[in-house]
Amino acid sequence: MLKPAERLARDGFTVDPTFRQQTADNQARFKDFPATAKLFLPGGEPPAVGSTFRNPDLARTYALLAEKGVGAIYKGELGRDIVDTVRKPPVDPKAQRVVRAGDLTAEDLRSYATKRQAPTRTDYRGLDVYGMAPSSSGGTSVAEALNILEKTDLSKLSDVDYLHRYIEASRIAFADRGRWVGDPAAEDVPTKGLTSQRFADSRACLIKDDAVLKSPVPPGDPNNPAGPGSCDTRGHAAPTTYEGENTTHLTVADKWGNVVAYTLTIEQTGGSGITVPGRGFLLNNELTDFSFAPADPAVHDPNLPGPGKRPRSSMSPTIVLDGHKPVLALGSPGGATIITTVLQTLLNHLDRGMPLVDAIAAPRASQRNAAQTELEPGLWNGPERAKLEALGHSFKQNPEIGAATGVQRLSGGRWLAAAETERRGGGSAMVVSPKR
Ligand code: GLU
Repeated sequence: MLKPAERLARDGFTVDPTFRQQTADNQARFKDFPATAKLFLPGGEPPAVGSTFRNPDLARTYALLAEKGVGAIYKGELGRDIVDTVRKPPVDPKAQRVVRAGDLTAEDLRSYATKRQAPTRTDYRGLDVYGMAPSSSGGTSVAEALNILEKTDLSKLSDVDYLHRYIEASRIAFADRGRWVGDPAAEDVPTKGLTSQRFADSRACLIKDDAVLKSPVPPGDPNNPAGPGSCDTRGHAAPTTYEGENTTHLTVADKWGNVVAYTLTIEQTGGSGITVPGRGFLLNNELTDFSFAPADPAVHDPNLPGPGKRPRSSMSPTIVLDGHKPVLALGSPGGATIITTVLQTLLNHLDRGMPLVDAIAAPRASQRNAAQTELEPGLWNGPERAKLEALGHSFKQNPEIGAATGVQRLSGGRWLAAAETERRGGGSAMVVSPKR
C-alpha cells in the first residue's frame, strides 16, 4: 500500500505555483532548520515552478514503514529520531530564532493509541449526517448549524436571505463551540445535546429576518436547553479564541461503496518548520490548536492546554447517508473556517440544488461569532453584500477560504468526484483506477 507513495517521494512531482507559494510563505522559518532548508529550499530558495521536487529520505521512511509497520514510529527507530528532534531541535546555530525544546519521550510514543470514537450524527431533511466527534468541534458545529436551519425552507429563499440565515446559524454554532467543545477525556463535552434538535430549536429562535445578531453571541446550555418558545441566551458571551491554520483534505470512494473523508493535517502548511533529519518529514505544530489563554477569564474555556489533553480541532470530514446508502461525502482544510466551508457546501448542494462542483466553487462566507463575517472576493464584489449590510451585517475580505473535495454517489453505482476549480490553483478530482 505504501509503494505508490514511496515511488512518488523518490521520483518526485512537478512543483506548481501553489506549492512554491506555500514554501515561500515558510521560507523564513525553513531556513533556520538546516534539514528543512536542505529539503525545501534548494539553493536557498523555494523550488521553481516546473522543477521536480524529490524527497528520497521520505521514500526511505515509507520503505521502512512498509517493512516494519507503524511500530517503527511508536517503538522503533523513527520514533527515536522524532523524540531526539523534539528534545533537541536541530536549529541553525547562527539563527536568531528562539526554538524551545519539547518534552516528548519515547514512553509517550509507546503509550500512544488512536481513539475509536463514535461519529457525531444528526438527521437533516431525512438524511443522516455523520461527522467527527470531539475533540474536533467539526461534527457538533456542522450538526448544530444544520439543525438550526432545518426549520427554514432554504430552497425558497433569495440569495441574500439564504446567506443571512447561513451566517447567523454559523455565528450561533460558534458561540456554543467556544463554550462547550474540548477534549472529552478532560472536559464535560455535551456532544448529544449540541447535536440535538431540541437544543438547536432553543437557539434558532434568536435569528431574525430583518436584523443581525450582535457578536459575541452568548452560548446556550445544551445540557438543559430552554423550553419551547424561549430562546437560550443564558451563557456568558466570549469571543472566539485563536484559530489555527490549515492543510489538506481528501475524499475517496471505492467500487464497493466504501467512503473515506480524510482531513490530514500537521496544523499549518509547514507544521513546526522542523524536519526530522534524514527522515524527510516535518513535525506538526498541532498544539497551537489549544486556546493560549481563556477567551474571557470569567468563562470556562474547555480548550485550555492540560497534561495528556488533545487540542480542539475544527476538522469536519462529513459523510451523508440515506438509510445505509452513501449520498455524499466531503471536507476541507481551513482551520476553524473548515466548519463554515463544509456547512455552506452542504447547504449549496442539498438545499440550493447546486451540482457538487458548483457548490464547492461558489464564493464563501465565514462567520465565527465575530463582529465581521469574512467574504471571498466573489461575494465581496457581488450584489448581495450591500443588501446584507443594509440588514446590519459587517464584512471583511478573505482572499481564499478552504480547499474542499467531495464525492457523490450517482445512480447505477457510479460516483462523481469534485474538487476546487480555482482555489489553490484547482484541486484534483478523478477516477484513479477506471474500469477497463
Ligand atoms: N489543525 C487544525 C484543525 O484541526 C487545522 C486543520 C487543517 O485545516 O488542516 O482544526
